[in-house]
Amino acid sequence: MKVLVINTGSSSLKYQLIDMTNENVLAKGVCERIGLEQSFLKHSKIGENAVVIEKDLYNHRLAIKEVINALTDDKIGVIKDMSEISAVGHRVVHGGEKFYQSVIIDDEVKKAIEECSELAPLHNPSNIVGIEACKQIMPDVPMVAVFDTAFHQTMPRHAYIYALPYEIYEKYRLRRYGFHGTSHKYVSERAAQMLNRPIEELKIITCHLGNGASICAVKYGKSVETSMGFTPLQGLCMGTRSGTIDPAVISFLMEKEKMTVKDISDFLNKKSGVLGVSGVSSDFRDIQEAAENGNDRAQLALDIFCYRVKGFIGDYAAIMNGVDAVVFTAGIGENNDYVRSKILTDMDFFGIKIDEEKNKVRGEEMDISTPDAKVRTLVIPTNEELAIARETVRLIKNGN
Ligand code: ADP
Repeated sequence: MKVLVINTGSSSLKYQLIDMTNENVLAKGVCERIGLEQSFLKHSKIGENAVVIEKDLYNHRLAIKEVINALTDDKIGVIKDMSEISAVGHRVVHGGEKFYQSVIIDDEVKKAIEECSELAPLHNPSNIVGIEACKQIMPDVPMVAVFDTAFHQTMPRHAYIYALPYEIYEKYRLRRYGFHGTSHKYVSERAAQMLNRPIEELKIITCHLGNGASICAVKYGKSVETSMGFTPLQGLCMGTRSGTIDPAVISFLMEKEKMTVKDISDFLNKKSGVLGVSGVSSDFRDIQEAAENGNDRAQLALDIFCYRVKGFIGDYAAIMNGVDAVVFTAGIGENNDYVRSKILTDMDFFGIKIDEEKNKVRGEEMDISTPDAKVRTLVIPTNEELAIARETVRLIKNGN
């Protein structure tokens, strides 16, 4: 059974074709600049060099067509024809309160995803465009939606309700949702497998540290708390996002700097975080290099980032009344030993101790704790595409 995994953005479309008999990726790629000039498709047949195909991709339907052409091409393709694609799994950012798990897409589901657009105006409309484009080109192929928010729908009410007048929640469904759910679920399940223990008896803190970053408390296999909120702006300091700040900062800045609503949104989402503090870059490799060369603000950005993560780990250990494992994943979590070490230094009080030699690992699964540590610290590369493909197969086979 071959599953096509699609992740649609406003002007991009990422894809992977996965053979689910052995979970091998056959091909992957990305269409960029859809609807703009100089659009192109970058396609890789696994094991061979990537090829760039320059093509006018006026819309997402043409992009999907081009993806199918590449996948079925004599030279760069991996399947004979489209009928080999058994199902399509779509990443959908926001499932609101309606979707607490993945679902097979039908007209009703599509409508419900559209209704969630108000909650994720930058993401859900693109996801719907991707779903519609696939439906037009592959009308008979079953499709599944896998939501970033679904895993966190198990959070208790006291965790997800903001301390605002309750009517605002009732009126707008304004509450905390959390994101990166597919990743937190995948790595927490992998952690249980690595520890060879049932997830139903484990308390795990998963740290997804990439450009966007969030932490999740996974108690007995369920998300009970996560750091992002109504939008992915809340929580940790990130590449370009501020994370949690005093909300009074917003009215102060709007007044003093004469900022509009859009200005303040751009300021907090695109100009803040480690980029804003360091003034160097949003990429941790650049910031670390600058810090090593004596740039004090770059060092400050790293300090703030690690301090926040440490705080959340303590918070979540309290919420769960203990922790069995801490997991690091995503670009920074998987690859940056400096950040991991800085976060975890002086946490032996919790039973967290890492072996600095093992901590040098990059992009590979590894238990980096010392043998005597009470809490296991694990590096686990995330694989959201595989998680989406697995969900797709599960739904197609079982129907729920
Ligand atoms: P996104 O949220 O956009 O998917 P990523 O998970 O790719 O982001 O994370 C981006 C961050 O991860 C950057 O700050 C970068 O420094 C870091 N990173 C990604 N890959 C590597 C690597 N191979 N080595 C070191 N750092 C990396």
